[in-house]
Amino acid sequence: MMVITMIEKRYNELIEIINKLNYEYYTLDKPSVSDQEYDRYMQELIKIELENPDIVRSDSPSVRVGGQVLDEFTKVTHEIPMLSLGNVFNEDELIKFDERIKKEVANPEYVCELKIDGLSVSLKYEKGKFVRGATRGDGIIGEDITHNVKTIKSIPLKLKENIDIEIRGEIFMGKKVFEKLNIEREKNGEEVFQNPRNAAAGSIRQLDSKIAAKRNLDAFLYHLPNALNYGINTHYEALKYIKKLGLKINPNIEKVKNINEVISYISYWTEHRDELPYEIDGIVIKLNDLNAQQQLGFTAKYPKWATAYKFPATEVLTKLIDIIFTVGRTGQVTPNAVLEPVRVAGSTVKRATLHNEDYVLSKDLKIGDIVSIRKAGDVIPEVVEPIIDRRTGNEIDFKMIDKCPICDSKLVKKEGQVDYFCINKECPARHIEGLIHFVSRDAMNVDGLGERIIEDFYNMGYIRNFTDIYKLSSKKEELMELEGFGEKSVNNLLEAIENSKTNSLEKLLFALGIRQVGNKTAKLLSQKFRNLDNLINTDFDTLNNIKDIGGIIAQNIIDYFNNEENLKIINELKEIGVNTEYLGKVDIENTNEEIFGKTFVLTGTLEKYTREELKEILENQGGKVTGSVSKKTDVVIVGKDPGSKYDKAKELNITIWDEEELKKHVKEV
Ligand code: NAD
Repeated sequence: MMVITMIEKRYNELIEIINKLNYEYYTLDKPSVSDQEYDRYMQELIKIELENPDIVRSDSPSVRVGGQVLDEFTKVTHEIPMLSLGNVFNEDELIKFDERIKKEVANPEYVCELKIDGLSVSLKYEKGKFVRGATRGDGIIGEDITHNVKTIKSIPLKLKENIDIEIRGEIFMGKKVFEKLNIEREKNGEEVFQNPRNAAAGSIRQLDSKIAAKRNLDAFLYHLPNALNYGINTHYEALKYIKKLGLKINPNIEKVKNINEVISYISYWTEHRDELPYEIDGIVIKLNDLNAQQQLGFTAKYPKWATAYKFPATEVLTKLIDIIFTVGRTGQVTPNAVLEPVRVAGSTVKRATLHNEDYVLSKDLKIGDIVSIRKAGDVIPEVVEPIIDRRTGNEIDFKMIDKCPICDSKLVKKEGQVDYFCINKECPARHIEGLIHFVSRDAMNVDGLGERIIEDFYNMGYIRNFTDIYKLSSKKEELMELEGFGEKSVNNLLEAIENSKTNSLEKLLFALGIRQVGNKTAKLLSQKFRNLDNLINTDFDTLNNIKDIGGIIAQNIIDYFNNEENLKIINELKEIGVNTEYLGKVDIENTNEEIFGKTFVLTGTLEKYTREELKEILENQGGKVTGSVSKKTDVVIVGKDPGSKYDKAKELNITIWDEEELKKHVKEV
């Protein structure tokens, strides 16, 4: 009884939240939360409804489309309701959608379309003449926006055939237009639009059509509600007919034979969506056969024959619960955001680095803030900004600490630098972090020595420096006695440690933890010097002359190898049998200087190699291959049908090699 009450309470609370968000989004065109946050509320609501059918309210937003219709506009009744779309958020849900369809239709063909992030519109033509444009409204009643639709250049006032017809599609604002509009608004002291969708909706729902006319809106049409009446049997044919009538359809529509092809289409556009001149928030999948569509029908809110795959969130909101400090292996003290766990781009984020005091202050972050989180490069979570509007007044100002949180020594900040350091060489945090780094995957890659175990082994006195790791084999019996360890796990651990001795030099070099020597620099140095002794014996100028190694890194390397203690550890590692040679494929003497150390970008199709093959060849000869053209790119290799990278290369005046030219530089393998 008690449980139901709590669920009901949450259920009512969710309805209230969603109704408020709908009003802000659909009626005011001014959302206060991200679409992903909204979708999470909606998913939670739907889950409660599915699990507790007795408490479902008839006014639930899960069964209602859109928002309220503004009184200022003339109201339009849609003869055929304008519905929303069901959502899927991952491949599993997509496959379930396909399975549901297959229960009714054998071998279904689908049409895949980009889900344009704008607002839907219904256009009515009589005898080929444009007579009415309407918003979706609540699906049944929309707003008459004819005066504004007439200002959209891509919507013809006259069709190529003199017919009566209703056509539906999406009005949107291109990215460039949106950016320009916001710059202008900012200059005029007006509030900026949050995204192109809100800008498009805000522009089309204006009483004065002069405003809409200035906003350069555009439209793609994608639906003929009455297609069967025009002798059309598939959705794909309907799209072609829309085009024939003189309206714009999206050029990236694709007819596919099965769900696997849908998945390929999705993965292609997940990767390439940023290249489009307008925003999309997903992919729409529609059953192609119109008779089969009719057979499947609708729910109250959406057609059963279509669904929208929503791209995973790349930016979401969550709460900054606390800011804590960690001490790295160099003694650097870093503030870290402790976040209310939130899913971003497929994984749960609980922590994010806040880098240093200046970073936190420049973002004006306060403990208790609602913050937006993004995954930079879809890997590292980043706190983008606090949502100032959502402050309650109970937030706590950030204050940098002045003592090491581990050993209590006074922290030091060098003049002109932003980072604070714990300079106590005996600070356990520095040792432990250094050891954790040493065994990590990109470093010596010792499986079975996780952070916890390192911490325990450190505190128990088993491991105090790198060489102690290799001496663990002499303590086998003792280790087997420890809680959580048995003979098998100890054997596995010792074997992993033994195996790490044969790593190529770049792993050891990265593992040593020389300041600012990341795994890429470690690889570059290993390729160049081939063994650790060559590197130890080099001088500042040689290092400084290597491309991608600046003066600071060069000095860090020199300082590291000038330190007696470091050299002692390295000698011990050598004696223990840890490899210090580079075992990779590059043979520096044979490496063509024109490839070595250069950054390449590949575009278009090459005759002789696949991209992967060429990438490997270039890397083996000491080059670096990256995905996008920037000022740092040295050479762009261009095959047949190159993409926008080619234009960018020309724009930035970057050396371009075609396949003929490439042959002159790359060594045959
Ligand atoms: P939807 O946007 O998820 O999908 C349906 C809409 O997609 C259609 O009405 C149509 O306008 C559009 N669409 C674009 N391209 C299309 C194509 N090729 N074919 C067919 N339709 C296409 O559903 P909705 O009901 O319009 O809105 C719900 C969504 O809006 C939520 O999932 C959320 O993302 C967002 N929303 C956000 C807030 C907020 O506060 N941030 C509030 C309400 C709604």
